Amino acid sequence: METQLRWDVIAAARALNQRGLNQGTSGNISVRHGGTVLITPTGLAFDDLTPEHIAAIDLTGTVVKGTAKPSSEWRMHTGIYRARPDVQAVVHAHPPHTTALACLRQDIPPFHYMVAVAGGSSIRCAPYATYGTAELAEAAVQALHERTACLLANHGLLTIGITLDKAMYVAQEVETLARQYLLACQAGTPVLLSEAEMDDVLDRFADYGK
Ligand code: 13P
Ligand code: ZN
Repeated sequence: METQLRWDVIAAARALNQRGLNQGTSGNISVRHGGTVLITPTGLAFDDLTPEHIAAIDLTGTVVKGTAKPSSEWRMHTGIYRARPDVQAVVHAHPPHTTALACLRQDIPPFHYMVAVAGGSSIRCAPYATYGTAELAEAAVQALHERTACLLANHGLLTIGITLDKAMYVAQEVETLARQYLLACQAGTPVLLSEAEMDDVLDRFADYGK
């Protein structure tokens, strides 16, 4: 069971790079496993990972098993699990279009109804803080309030889910939205949907695909 979960984390990490959502050793992924968190190691290529490279830490970041060194973003991952008991998986990546928008330090506004995929009428951009810091972890938790995705200023993307598949799905959708938004902004000024129009979408999303 735990070995399978470790392979699931590795497969998802490799998929990020294969799908153009991330590159190199940027990005990190974790899943909750009981009272522990299984998280990708810091600075290793995803293609080279085997299950023993996945670090097992508790919610304070202490390594509870093995010798693998957890991602430098362990504070962000554990901070989210502490703040959001429903969350089972955290995905962090540096997708090109999302990251370009994150460098503008702006929320993604409701230019398309699919913005609701992250749970609200906008996708927030968390203020800048150095990678790996408690300050970034706190900023991320706040930007994720009642959302399943946020941008990290001058850095990248963060998504969460009640399953790893759901967090990966939201990551792909946000990168698509970012690409569409950048294209629309190049062609003109996108017309934004109203709060009422987005509320209508959010109501429909409550049982979409169920
Ligand atoms: P790690 O290799 O330590 O996971 O760091 C990558 C990253 O994206 C930092 O924000
Ligand atoms: Zn990063």
